[in-house]
Amino acid sequence: MLEIDGLVKAYGENQVLKGVSFTVAPGQMFGFCGSNGAGKTTTMRIAMGLARADAGEVRWNGAPVDEAVRRRIGYMPEERGLYPKMKVREQLAYFARLHGMDAGSAGRAAGEWGERLGLGERLGDPVEKLSLGNQQRVQLAAALVSEPDVLILDEPFSGLDPVGVDSLAEALLDQCRRGVPVVFSSHQLDLVERLCDAVGILARGSMVATGTVAELRASAHGRQLRVVAP
Ligand code: ATP
Repeated sequence: MLEIDGLVKAYGENQVLKGVSFTVAPGQMFGFCGSNGAGKTTTMRIAMGLARADAGEVRWNGAPVDEAVRRRIGYMPEERGLYPKMKVREQLAYFARLHGMDAGSAGRAAGEWGERLGLGERLGDPVEKLSLGNQQRVQLAAALVSEPDVLILDEPFSGLDPVGVDSLAEALLDQCRRGVPVVFSSHQLDLVERLCDAVGILARGSMVATGTVAELRASAHGRQLRVVAP
C-alpha cells in the first residue's frame, strides 16, 4: 500500500502543496487529475525522493519510503529521461541495472520488456531514431523493466496515438493484475475513467475530491462525493 500523507511544499512564496493525501492499494490503478500547475508532478517527485516535502510523509506498507524502497518504484518522469544515443536494449538494461539487477538478468529483462511493449524490432536502434510515441514506450519499459513493486507515472499517455494508448493501458492493467499499485497523472479524463478504480482531483495544491470513478460520477448528481476542503 502506497500512502501519501499530508504533503506540504512551497517554492518561495508559492504554496504548491497544501496537505495532499491519498492511498493506493495493491492492484489498484489511481488516476491523479488536476489542471496545469495543480501540483501533480511535485507530489510524484516527492514520492520518488526527487524533491523534499516541507511536511508530510510518503509510506510504503506503513514505513517511510527510503532508498531501498525507491529502488523498487518504477517511475516515469514528465520530462522524459532517456539517453538519445543509447540503443533501446542498452537503455532498458541500464535502467534495470540501476534498480539492482545483475547484468545477465538486466539484458534478458530488456529484451522481454522491449518485446512486450511492441519495440522488438527497434531494440538495436538508438533512442533518438524512434518516433515520440515509441520513445514513450521505451520510457515506460524503463519503468517496468525491473519488475517494480509500485508504479508512479507522470502523464504517461501524453502524446501517444490510440494504438500506443491501448498497448500502454494493457501493460498497466497487467501490472495491476500482478498486484502492483499504479498511480498515473493525466489530463485525459476519458482514459482515467476507463482504467482507474480510484481517482484523486488536485486543485491548487489541495485534493478537492477522492473516490472511485462511480462515486465521482454519482457526485455529478449531487451524491456520495467525499469532498476534502481546499
Ligand atoms: P502540469 O500538469 O502542468 O504538469 P502539475 O499539476 O504537475 O502541472 P507541478 O508541475 O507540480 O504541477 O507545479 C505546481 C507549481 O509548482 C507550479 O506553479 C510550478 O511553477 C511550481 N514549481 C514546480 N517545480 C518547481 C521548482 N523546482 N521551483 C519553483 N517552482 C516550481
